Order: sequence, then structure tokens, then C-alpha cells
Amino acid sequence: MIVATTGPMANSGRLIVLTGPSGVGKGTLVSRLLRNRPALFLSVSATTRAPRPNEVEGVHYYFITRTKFEELIAQGQLLEWAEYLSNYYGTPRQAVLERLATGADVLLEIEVEGARQVLKTFPQAITIFILPPSLSTLAARLKQRRTESPEVITRRLTKAAQEITHAPEFSHRIVNDQLAEAVAQLEAILYPA
Ligand code: 5GP
Repeated sequence: MIVATTGPMANSGRLIVLTGPSGVGKGTLVSRLLRNRPALFLSVSATTRAPRPNEVEGVHYYFITRTKFEELIAQGQLLEWAEYLSNYYGTPRQAVLERLATGADVLLEIEVEGARQVLKTFPQAITIFILPPSLSTLAARLKQRRTESPEVITRRLTKAAQEITHAPEFSHRIVNDQLAEAVAQLEAILYPA
């Protein structure tokens, strides 16, 4: 088993999945975590969504066409994938498995459907669901971020309410109210004293 902590694959790193609704602050939590733990490897996802102005190919995502994405699915090159609000998002399998095999911990920052798939395939994965203090806080954060149009924000919020119903399926839950506190909770889960 790839993420075993005992037995012949004892040197494998841990697969860590951070999930939760869009706008909940997963990205900010991840950047804080990576700053504290530079040895962590953050998987770069593939998506069919158009890049936002500040986004860099191969850093934030691999931006690919639907045809190419469907090829990756057919070839079994994705560890998990999901269609989220009319775009595909998925985790390239090989990069993750290679890093785990070197003993490095690998972090996935993904939406809820994909995280549920990972739970089935890698039951030993450490799965953490990030919750907003409330749906109205989430709405305010999405608006503040100014990366999406009002229609997209409405769709993301409707989706978020449904995604939150799956929070109990994951091994850990953190309410992202005060960022520093949420980072500390994340660190405590991943690196217990
Ligand atoms: P955004 O369009 O805001 O970058 O991402 C939309 C949602 O897709 C976010 O919840 C983000 O975490 C998620 N996402 C990013 N990459 C992946 C991936 O590889 N797989 C899945 N299932 N979700 C992803």
C-alpha cells in the first residue's frame, strides 16, 4: 500500500488531502503550511478552467483543453478527478506517486468530490476538511477575492452548501475563522508533538 507507515513500504511519505468549499481559504492555509514545512510537496493539478490573470502555467495549474483532460482520464493518468462547475480538475498520478516513494509527504488541495475518491483509493490518506465559520462568511470571502463573476460566486456558494454536508466523512475538520489558529490546528494534526 502506497501510504503505509509500516511494512515493506515504510519509507513512503504521507498523502495529505486538504478539502472544503471554494473560498474557504484552502489556498492560504496551504501557502502558510508550505512556508513552515518546505519539505512538503504540493501537487500541481490539471484543469480546463481558464487561467486567472496572476496564474502561472505549471505553478498554479496545468491549464489544458477538455480533449487533453479526457485523454488523461482514459489513460488512467489521474489519481482523482472531478467536474466542478463545468470545468475538469484532476491530480496527475505519476508525480504524486514518485514523490511518495521518495519518502516525501505530498499535499493535495482539492474539491470535495475528488477528496472522496482519494478516501476510497487511499484509505490511509490524512484527510482534512476546512469549514467556513458560516455560509455568509464564505459569501463575503468569495466576493472579496474578486476572482469570479457574481454568477460564478452564486454557483460556488450553492455548491459549497452541498459540499459541507460531506464534512463528517473526513478524518479531521478545521473551522477557518482566525487564520493563525487554523494553521496551528493543521500543524497539530500533521505534526503532533
Ligand atoms: P479554482 O477554480 O478556485 O482554482 O478551484 C475550484 C475548486 O477545485 C477548488 O475547491 C479547488 O481546491 C479544486 N481543485 C483544484 N485542483 C483540483 C484537483 O486536482 N482535483 C479536484 N478534485 N479538485 C481540485
